[in-house]
Amino acid sequence: MKKVEVDWGLCESNGVCMGIIPEVFQLGDDDMLSVLQSEVTPENETQIREAVRQCPRQAISIVE
Ligand code: SF4
Repeated sequence: MKKVEVDWGLCESNGVCMGIIPEVFQLGDDDMLSVLQSEVTPENETQIREAVRQCPRQAISIVE
């Protein structure tokens, strides 16, 4: 099973990933990013890969 991982040391909570797929990435009121659903599925994989590509900090990765 493939899963999303965020390197919290790199993430600067700018919300780019949430703009691409808010079902998976959510910025809370405290400006901390949460991963709502870490499982990579056929339905969300394209958008998650786009978030990986567009994250300005390269903080998102997909692990098998
Ligand atoms: S796009 Fe990258 S740096 Fe921005 S909130 Fe998402 S994981 Fe963090």
